[in-house]
Amino acid sequence: MSEPVAAARGQAALLGPAEVRALAERFGVRPTKQLGQNFVHDANTVRRIVAAAGVGREDVVLEVGPGLGSLTLALLDVVDRVIAVEIDPVLASHLPRTVADRAPDLTDRLDVVEADALRVSATDLPGTPTALVANLPYNVAVPVLLHLLAEIPSIRTALVMVQAEVAERLAAEPGSRVYGVPSVKAGYFGTVRRAGSVGRQVFWPVPQVESGLVRIDRYPTPPWPQDAAHRQRVFSVIDAAFAQRRKTLRAALGSWAGSAAEAESRLRAAGIDPAARGETLTTGEYVELASRSSAL
Ligand code: SAM
Repeated sequence: MSEPVAAARGQAALLGPAEVRALAERFGVRPTKQLGQNFVHDANTVRRIVAAAGVGREDVVLEVGPGLGSLTLALLDVVDRVIAVEIDPVLASHLPRTVADRAPDLTDRLDVVEADALRVSATDLPGTPTALVANLPYNVAVPVLLHLLAEIPSIRTALVMVQAEVAERLAAEPGSRVYGVPSVKAGYFGTVRRAGSVGRQVFWPVPQVESGLVRIDRYPTPPWPQDAAHRQRVFSVIDAAFAQRRKTLRAALGSWAGSAAEAESRLRAAGIDPAARGETLTTGEYVELASRSSAL
């Protein structure tokens, strides 16, 4: 293991390619696809992610999948607290030591929680996150993101690195070819925009896909209720509309409404053309449509 590179007092020594390899070797980590383990070994990339997140001293950052600590170290440089949720017990157990080695003045800013981010809830965390900043495991990126936005309302901002195609989907506008369930559901929580692209070469192992950054800013004053019952109602209409995205909404929403005629009447009541397709509706229109179902 190479010695930590010199860092200014009170600052973290970020991980480069040699350090990432050496840590993985020392911990006996063989990156798996199943857990989306592609580790960043480029200091500029992690600094860029932290800058794009717009987090500062007062923030409590939830990081999902800290891995070997590349992004964690960059976060510890600028925020007072990082709560890192890692599913891999080997990675979770070694992270505090890596931080002690490479950022000895910053160790008390870190809490590591060994858990599945898809199941974690606010009460499992030793603090109240104000931001989510993560290089997400790509195979579960959207479910993790939506789960955390739903479960942890204190998160005001999310800056996540995901597969480029997923970044495009999340930030797509109605009518776009890639607008779909992730776009509409992310738009339920806040405004979504792309925040940059990341090439493959900053990762080890090198992934097969390009990456992208997405930022979600939660609505400061939510335009609709944010409780679980409301969300479930709205999400079930979204799922039904996109399950048959080539069909008109009148046809696609037949089983959701009970019949095509009832779907048509709810669509009309919501001011939506029954011949429209799901990919043309805004999140607000889905909310309006869900409110036409008797149970809301
Ligand atoms: N943040 C590190 C970096 O940028 O180098 C690692 C990012 S890597 C793309 C994804 C990380 O998420 C891995 O450390 C992996 O073990 C972890 N992970 C995968 N599935 C997870 C889950 N369901 N909950 C929490 N962590 C998960």
